[in-house]
Amino acid sequence: MRSVRYALPVAALAAVLGVVVGGTAAPADATRDFRFTSPDGGGSSAPLAGRTIVIDPGHQLGNHNFPREIDRLVPAGGFEKPCNTTGTATNGGYPEATFTWQVARLLRTRLVSLGATVMMTRHSNREDRWGPCVDVRGRDGNKVHADLKISIHGDGSYAAGARGFHVIAPTDRRPWTHDIYRPSRRLALDTRSSLKHVGLRVANYIAGGDGLDFRSDLGTINLSDMPTVMVELGNMRNARDAHRMTSKAGRATYARGLALAVRRFLG
Ligand SMILES: [Zn+2]
Repeated sequence: MRSVRYALPVAALAAVLGVVVGGTAAPADATRDFRFTSPDGGGSSAPLAGRTIVIDPGHQLGNHNFPREIDRLVPAGGFEKPCNTTGTATNGGYPEATFTWQVARLLRTRLVSLGATVMMTRHSNREDRWGPCVDVRGRDGNKVHADLKISIHGDGSYAAGARGFHVIAPTDRRPWTHDIYRPSRRLALDTRSSLKHVGLRVANYIAGGDGLDFRSDLGTINLSDMPTVMVELGNMRNARDAHRMTSKAGRATYARGLALAVRRFLG
């Protein structure tokens, strides 16, 4: 695979992203650049040739080091929310940011091998970085008319025995999600069936019990102009889910399920 850097001037890029540059010791990860990963070849016969997928690895490892930056309010679709949160962790201390980063990279490799161009909303997993904020994550890919966006997370429920994955999709929140809520629902159904197909179980602690959750309070979803879902791949506070999430084989299974979801949705 090759990486293409779009070398916009920092100020211009910051303006596009709505990010404040300067005044902080470390830049938000999003201020660096857009980076697309495209396949070397494979031709137009590859199943995802010509498709652009946005992968959003939830949080950033260093968010907890930048409380002022990540608490700043940003637009989230008709209201404001904090830029980001620290994310959760397993009881053993494996951070959600690292989990989402590792699964995202595995998913990217799979999608590129299928012919897709992949955009990531962050480009590092580092203690000295924060962000990007949810508004930047939400808008990422809009300008290039990407085909879909998957936001990857792990949940942190302390409810006894709470485990399994669930898929979050937008409600019809005019005017923000009116254009995407129907295809996003279809993407959510494809994601649920694909994750089940690779042997994962739907969450036993989310209302409804069907592994689906429809929400209107998430900037990452509300600001997207393309079909989008957020997946809570497991409950990091549950020992059985944590066992899978901390293992290389387990993360490969999540990536395989998500790649299958993309193929089903775009196929
Ligand atoms: Zn999260």
